[in-house]
Amino acid sequence: MADAERDDGRSEARAIFASAAALVRELAEEGVSGFEPLPALAPFEPRAAPASTGDGRPVAAPSRMRPAPAAAPGQSRSEPSTAAALPPSLPTAMPALPPRARAGGHASLDVVRSALGDCRRCGLCEGRQNIVFGDGNPEAQILFVGEGPGEQEDRTGLPFVGRAGELLTQMIEKGMGIPRSDVYICNIVKCRPPGNRNPLPPEVSACRPFLDGQIEAIAPKVIVTLGKPAASLLLGREISITRVRGTWQTYRDIPLMPTLHPAYVLRQYTPENRRAVWQDLQAALERSRA
Ligand code: SF4
Repeated sequence: MADAERDDGRSEARAIFASAAALVRELAEEGVSGFEPLPALAPFEPRAAPASTGDGRPVAAPSRMRPAPAAAPGQSRSEPSTAAALPPSLPTAMPALPPRARAGGHASLDVVRSALGDCRRCGLCEGRQNIVFGDGNPEAQILFVGEGPGEQEDRTGLPFVGRAGELLTQMIEKGMGIPRSDVYICNIVKCRPPGNRNPLPPEVSACRPFLDGQIEAIAPKVIVTLGKPAASLLLGREISITRVRGTWQTYRDIPLMPTLHPAYVLRQYTPENRRAVWQDLQAALERSRA
């Protein structure tokens, strides 16, 4: 390995650990005094039929996720081209998740948002109008993960509200037959990359603990990744979305279904692509109900 490459890797690792340490400090400042360490490599057991809170809402199940695998950001929403390969300086291991607060359920998601605060951990804070943390049911059975906010998302502070968002909403409501408010939707990075460029490795690394925190807090039964970058990040390797979509993967023992990004489907609005996404979402819905 070249010296420069090794130096890049060390700087990256230092930035990651600094980010994770800062997050833990902030959680402590938020008054989180009791932590429940993540079960290391605990086998995932499908969530049993959720208990009711009394108002019909299910009670969140305890997390059974495994530690995060190696991470990988990817290319822009112009996938599925393989031209934008993962940067070589990508860290091969992500920091441990911030420990789950004992508050439990969606309170943990609130803690993650609170810890994010008015985040300035990476350069994407410079051009943003709003942090786009995520939206939906904090106890969702299905979690959608995209790449990053676009212009309208940046303006509104909500994920997937532009044209691609409209298509995603249709995919969920007409394709899966459930209200969008039943699922949770978030992105790899919470601030809009300028000009909708790919998020850079340090930006992905800085934001990654919060995505992991969201997954930990929601503990979904199924994750659906939208596009190549989100799938590559969570699977820890660069994937070809056209090869991997429609095949079951796992992220920390949670079933993960990679599918096409709605922005790509809008650009390539072919019956084949629409059918592919429909099939992927049907499979995700079935798995979430198993
Ligand atoms: S992208 Fe994430 S880490 Fe970077 S400033 Fe925004 S919230 Fe913070």
